[in-house]
Amino acid sequence: LQICTAIAILFISFIGILLLAINPEDIKEPAQLMYGIVLDAGSTHTSMFIYKWPADKQNGTGIVSQHSECHVKGGGISSYAGARGGAARSLEKCMEKAKQEIPKSRHKLTPVYLGATAGMRLLNISKPEESGEILKEVEDKLKTYPFRFKGATILSGQEEGAYGWVTVNYLLEKFIKYGFVGQWLSPGRDTVGALDLGGASTQITFVTKQTVENKDNLMKLRLYGRDYQIYTQSFLCYGRDQVLLKLLAHLITTQGSGGSIVHPCYPADYNTSVNLSSVFDTPCNKKPTPYKPDDNLQIKGTGNYNQCMGNVSRLFSFDRCSYSKCSFDGVFQPNITGNFMAFSAFFYTHEFLQRAAGITITSPADLEEAVHVVCNMSFQEMLNKFPDEGNHLRDYCADSILLRVLLINGYGFNDLSFPHISFQGKAEGNSVGWSLGYMLSLSNLLPAENVLLRKALRP
Ligand code: AMP
Repeated sequence: LQICTAIAILFISFIGILLLAINPEDIKEPAQLMYGIVLDAGSTHTSMFIYKWPADKQNGTGIVSQHSECHVKGGGISSYAGARGGAARSLEKCMEKAKQEIPKSRHKLTPVYLGATAGMRLLNISKPEESGEILKEVEDKLKTYPFRFKGATILSGQEEGAYGWVTVNYLLEKFIKYGFVGQWLSPGRDTVGALDLGGASTQITFVTKQTVENKDNLMKLRLYGRDYQIYTQSFLCYGRDQVLLKLLAHLITTQGSGGSIVHPCYPADYNTSVNLSSVFDTPCNKKPTPYKPDDNLQIKGTGNYNQCMGNVSRLFSFDRCSYSKCSFDGVFQPNITGNFMAFSAFFYTHEFLQRAAGITITSPADLEEAVHVVCNMSFQEMLNKFPDEGNHLRDYCADSILLRVLLINGYGFNDLSFPHISFQGKAEGNSVGWSLGYMLSLSNLLPAENVLLRKALRP
C-alpha cells in the first residue's frame, strides 16, 4: 500500500510540474495573422504577393511567409506608356483578389507597396514624363483600396539586388534560426549570394570580405545584431529581353539592312519578320542612321551554336577595367565566394536546359553540353517536346548562351564554384525575388539587433 501511495504522489507531482511548465501563452488560440501586399512591377509583367505572419511575433526569420500570389494579365506597367489609365486598370483584378483573401478586419492594417524595376528605370530614361504619369496613376488606383498604401516607387538597381539577397537569406534562415531548445539562435552561418536575371536588368549580390573598390557597389547592413558587407551590382540592359533586343540590333547593324538577316540563335527551321521600331525603341540600343522605324525585316534562323556564342559575347565588353578586377563592361567585382541562389530567368533557362538535354547540370561542362543540345534543336522538335512553352522556345538557345556568358565569362564561376549555384524559382513555398526582402525591410520586420525570443512559436 505504501509503494502504491508513493507512486500516486510521484505521478500527481509530475503532472503538477508539467502543468506549471506550460505557459498559458502557449496554449491560447492561434495568433491572429497580419498581412502585407507587394506589387512587383517588373518589365514584362506585374505580380502581386500577399505575405502573412502572426500578429504577436514578427522578428524571427521564417515567420513571414507567402500567403498567395496573383499574376496581372498583360504587360508590365511600363508597356502602358502613352495609354493613359491602362497600367492602373491592369492591377484591378489582383487587388480585388487581395480584398477577398485578406480578412476585412485586417484591411486597414495591411500595408501595400508597389515597386517598379528596370522596365520603369528604362522608361524613366527615355520618357520621364510618361514614367511619372504611370507611377501617379497606379498610386491613385492603389489608394482607392481599403489597405494602408505605403508608396509606389522605382527601385534602384542596388536596392533590387540587396532586397533579393535579403529574401534569399531570410527564407534560408541564414540570419537567425529556430533552435531545438525553443529559442531563436544566431547561427552565424555563411549567407548565400543572389543571382537574379530579370527582363531588363540582372543583379549579382553577395557578402565579401574583400575591399569593394567602387563604393557604388557597397552596401552595409546590420541585421539581428550582425554586420554584413555586401557587394551588389545591377546591369541595366542585361536582362533577358533587353539582351535579345541588343542581339537583334547587333545582327541588323553588322549584316546591313538589305531587308533580311540570318539569326544564329534561332532554330534553323524558324523564320519570322520584325519591325525595326520594336528593336530600336529602347534606350539599350543605339538607333542606326538612316533609321526607318516602320521598316520590316525578314529573319531566318540558322541554329548555329558557335556563331550564336560569338554574337552574344560581343554584347559584353571584357577588355577594359580600371579596378584590380572586373566582371564585364569595366564594372568592379570581387572574386565570387560561397553558395549562390540563381532565380527568375536563370531558373527558367536552367530548368529548360535540363529537361531538353535530359541531364542534371552541375558543372560548366554539363552546361556546355546542354546548351549545344538546345542550340541544335529544330523548332519543330521543340514544339513536339515542349508544346506548353510556346513563346519562349525560339529564344532558349540565346537565353542559354546568355546564362553561360554571364555566369562563366562575366561573373567568373568555374569548375569549383559553379556547383555552388542552386537554381531555384521557389524556396519554402515562397517565390524568390526582391519583393519579400522589400516588405520585410520597409515594414520594420527585420530588426538590426538580435532578438532572442524565448518560447517563440512558429506560425
Ligand atoms: P520575371 O522573373 O517574370 O521578371 O521574368 C524574367 C524574364 O524571364 C522575362 O524576360 C520573362 O519573359 C522570362 N520568362 C518568364 N517565364 C519564362 C519561361 N518559362 N521560360 C523562359 N523565360 C521566361
